[in-house]
Amino acid sequence: MSLNSTRPTKIHIKTPLIESLAMGQLVEPNIWLKLESVQPCGSFKARGIGHACQHYVAQGASHLLASSAGNAGLAVAYAGRKLGIPVTVVVPETVKPCAIELMEREGASVVIKGTEWDGAHAHAQTLLKPNWAYIHPFDDPLLWQGHASLIDELAADGLQPDGIVVSVGGGGLMCGLVDGIRDQNWPDIPLLAVETIGADSLYCAEQTGQPVALKKISSIATSLGAKKVAQRSFDLLAEYPIETHRVTDQQAVAACRRFLNEQRLLVEPACGAALATVYEQAAFFNGKKNVVIVVCGGVGVSVEQLAIWQKQLAS
Ligand SMILES: *Cc1c(COP(=O)(O)O)cnc(C)c1O
Repeated sequence: MSLNSTRPTKIHIKTPLIESLAMGQLVEPNIWLKLESVQPCGSFKARGIGHACQHYVAQGASHLLASSAGNAGLAVAYAGRKLGIPVTVVVPETVKPCAIELMEREGASVVIKGTEWDGAHAHAQTLLKPNWAYIHPFDDPLLWQGHASLIDELAADGLQPDGIVVSVGGGGLMCGLVDGIRDQNWPDIPLLAVETIGADSLYCAEQTGQPVALKKISSIATSLGAKKVAQRSFDLLAEYPIETHRVTDQQAVAACRRFLNEQRLLVEPACGAALATVYEQAAFFNGKKNVVIVVCGGVGVSVEQLAIWQKQLAS
């Protein structure tokens, strides 16, 4: 099958927006779920990464390079396949075999290097050749522009919420939501920026007054494991209504479990963190009418793995 080259390929899909009565019963506002977990690569990353990859390819990039053992790497692999461009993903040694399998199934070459993301990121820079594009997992305005399409879809569906709950790793998704809200000329919609304790780089930046680097990531929500947030994420704390919020790994995993049973959807603890705020009835919801939870998704989870985490965290 050949792609029609005169029509731009769309990398992400428009996702469903559904109301959850079960969750809405727990808090004052109606709760709306924006189901990014059904993106073809399993997370919202399809939006920003798809947009960035398309941009770089239009600029002449002949090869896409990424550094991530998780959803960002998979999104680049997926985008590369859709665009017909080869992809190399550098993953740290801690990578799970199933992550390699998912990326290789998309046709990407996987290189294992470094003990954590920083090492893989550094090694990736040494592989760059002329006409290769490096896709950062969260810190690139092109990415934010792509993530902003999520807000366009809320507008198209006729929902202007008065609150949005979003998980934060490096904050790329959060930056994109703010861009999207401003593009719509909506008033500043308060955001609840959720992290797990141990992956709380935005919270720690707020506390210390600068984007500090965490010494290590000690949360199981590895998709939130950016040691240091993007500068733009930090700057937004001062210029946009953002409330930081932290949950424990236990709360995130329990939320995944409950959400699986209630909505029949399986998501990573990185996403469970955002869901947990409803189950914990966070004060953010008080006085609001319609709140959107970004169900950011993630492929690094299985029913078996959820059970293992739950057991580990209980002991
Ligand atoms: C990447 C990712 C995040 C964090 O996104 P940032 O843009 O780095 O803040 C949250 N959840 C999932 C499932 C992810 O893949």
